[in-house]
Amino acid sequence: MRIILLGPPGSGKGTQADLMQKKYGFPKISTGDLLRDAVERRTSLGQRIKAAMNQGLLVSDDIVMSLLQERMEKADCRDGCILDGFPRNLAQAKALEKMDDGSSVIVIDIRLGEKEIIDRLSARRICSQCQTICNLSISRSEHEGECDSCGGRLIQREDDRPEVIQERLRVYHQETEKLINYYKEKGLYHRVDGHGDIEDVFRRICDVMNQTFDEADRPEAAR
Ligand code: ADP
Ligand code: ZN
Repeated sequence: MRIILLGPPGSGKGTQADLMQKKYGFPKISTGDLLRDAVERRTSLGQRIKAAMNQGLLVSDDIVMSLLQERMEKADCRDGCILDGFPRNLAQAKALEKMDDGSSVIVIDIRLGEKEIIDRLSARRICSQCQTICNLSISRSEHEGECDSCGGRLIQREDDRPEVIQERLRVYHQETEKLINYYKEKGLYHRVDGHGDIEDVFRRICDVMNQTFDEADRPEAAR
């Protein structure tokens, strides 16, 4: 089974993908994380990737596809995976179909209003020590600027600066939003409200998963 998490930046795909990984046992694959790892390796390719990401633009399809393909060939993806942040345009969606291995596909789109997106992304910080994602507006830490889990120093992702957030949203509307109709036409599309607590959103996702699995298990005639 391939689970595709669609949704604008900041809609909570990564957080929900972590929870789904725990519950359903499929590994989460975040192309954002794959790309950030590639940047860490400090190669010339990494430099190009970093430049695109820091401007809020999409990294080129060939780079993303080769990183993704390499990851999906690993043994833990044999029964499926959860794709977080991929595909992000039509070309990527079609490239994924070419990698068809017969597994079923479900698309879950986490919807969130524009104001909420900007608020969440602007308040997002990453722990420089343990990489935990924190949100300043719901931080439980007593000390401002410190990680909830380990007390490490919080830093802002380069692409969470206001100018870059605007650009990421523009790219989302121009490139990624098209995938909604694309997957609707294929009958794979499910929409989930991304407002509210993490647990609320996760419950909605689990409902979609349940309904879809039930339906697939039902005999052909009863569908
Ligand atoms: P978000 O979903 O909140 O935008 P990500 O960590 O998923 O955050 O992505 C960060 C950046 O990584 C994107 O703005 C883009 O530059 C790059 N990126 C991630 N996934 C892809 C992809 N599938 N294709 C092209 N670029 C990508
Ligand atoms: Zn930490």
